[in-house]
Amino acid sequence: MDFDTPLFDSVLAETWIRAIAAAVEEEEALLTELDSAIGDGDHGSNLRRGFAAVLSALDGLQPTGPGAVLTKTGTTLISKVGGASGPLYGKAFRAIGAALPEPAGPATLAEALAAGLDAVRILGKAEPGDKTIVDAWTPAVAALRAAAAAGATLPEATAAAADAADQGARATIPLRARKGRASYLGERSTGHQDPGATSTALLFRALADVAHN
Ligand code: ADP
Ligand code: MG
Repeated sequence: MDFDTPLFDSVLAETWIRAIAAAVEEEEALLTELDSAIGDGDHGSNLRRGFAAVLSALDGLQPTGPGAVLTKTGTTLISKVGGASGPLYGKAFRAIGAALPEPAGPATLAEALAAGLDAVRILGKAEPGDKTIVDAWTPAVAALRAAAAAGATLPEATAAAADAADQGARATIPLRARKGRASYLGERSTGHQDPGATSTALLFRALADVAHN
């Protein structure tokens, strides 16, 4: 075992969540614009409000491990965000949290994030290609797993995941939505990047950024 490899611990977990909160605040206008094109324009405000509530919830928390931070994040998102994304991201963070009782290296983190993806898919029943969160999250998990299997460090593995999530989000542009509000538009949902896939890419980019520092 390489003891120089940084681990995903409770400090990094909290730093990650704070970085997501900052990113969704910074990119609120973009997320709103994307959701205005194929949804109801609330994705940016949903996530900004949700993560602001998460930050307050984390202020009083004495985490027992990285999982405790993520479980609290998920529970708060479920209770504070009304849109489809609240329960989906909420369940995802709760599943990630349940899989991370202790500080984790890249392989364990990959499996935890895979459990998060499973939770999204169980609740939302979206397949890859349906133009949802799943389209960014699936390639991110695949890249993280592959990097971990190849012996990558946490910064390397999470950077690969962030790049894959970005590509996955961009690849939703030509897709026709088959789940969520955007599916009501049918063919007219093509030609726009999916807001949820875009916020998932922000979430993985935030992870890579904090793992790097
Ligand atoms: P709402 O659609 O209720 O207004 P948001 O605007 O916050 O909620 O979130 C919209 C995003 O949620 C979509 O862009 C899509 O990525 C994601 N989404 C919607 N339904 C599903 C689903 N069944 N599975 C996965 N993601 C979904
Ligand atoms: Mg919306």
